[in-house]
Amino acid sequence: MTGTMTGKVCLVTGASSGIGRATALELLRAGHTVYGLARRVEKMDVIQDAGGHAIGADVTSEADLDRAVQAVLDQHQRIDVLVNNAGTAVHGAAEEVPMERARQVFEVNLFGLARLTQLVLPQMRERRSGTIVNISSIAGEISLPLGAWYHASKHALEAYSDSLRQEVARFGVRVVVVQPGIIKTGFEDDTPRQLREISGHGPYAEVAEWMARRAEEGFGPGSKASDPRVVGRAVAEIVAARDPKPRYAVGHL
Ligand code: NDP
Repeated sequence: MTGTMTGKVCLVTGASSGIGRATALELLRAGHTVYGLARRVEKMDVIQDAGGHAIGADVTSEADLDRAVQAVLDQHQRIDVLVNNAGTAVHGAAEEVPMERARQVFEVNLFGLARLTQLVLPQMRERRSGTIVNISSIAGEISLPLGAWYHASKHALEAYSDSLRQEVARFGVRVVVVQPGIIKTGFEDDTPRQLREISGHGPYAEVAEWMARRAEEGFGPGSKASDPRVVGRAVAEIVAARDPKPRYAVGHL
């Protein structure tokens, strides 16, 4: 078994697929103790097979997050690294996206991350040590049409992280933002599909058609989506770094 009882104790959200799974596996490979967190526990078998642990939890449920953090603390009395990666997106015109969907995006991408941070921070602050890695996106830097709520949530995550960094640096806690580019995951596959659904009809059909074509091309002629392991390796390097930068762009075109 790799990764058990050595290195740092890491909690990675959204570990049942894509970037989160790749990150959990890279952290295990680096010799850390890794807990993956996601709703679909069965999708974290690969993490368990590699010596990690899986916690079934929904980041929008405070009770789930309480239970998850307590389980890790009961076992190790510390969490050294929190990777807030769980994320969701909605594509659609700002005029048309139901507010319920918009709220759901913020519940996962911002409030879930913020609540988990509140639960993990006290012991990091008291121990004067810890790393919080928040997975943003290139979408947290720029904004495109039909992505208002996703962009807004990632811009909000960036601002939240910048404030948090300044609050907790004095306690030896590092806050790092990672901005992946286009990464080959189910999430990235879903973008053109959602845009195609809008492109067939309605007042935003034309911009949706244009955006769908761009998404299918990977947002650049001849561009290729990066492997999620690129992000996983970057997170492992950040965890190992003596003095990480506040922000890293990873897997950009
Ligand atoms: P995936 O769809 O492959 O993974 C998303 C993960 O988030 C899943 O493990 C899912 O687990 C988890 N998740 C979603 N909602 C919840 C919830 N309510 N509670 C717990 N876990 C949840 O996407 P990616 O790997 O691509 O995305 C990971 C992060 O990377 C996201 O924050 C995304 O915004 C960001 N990103 C992705 C890019 C890309 O091109 N792919 C580019 C830039 C940023 P489950 O469903 O089992 O709960």
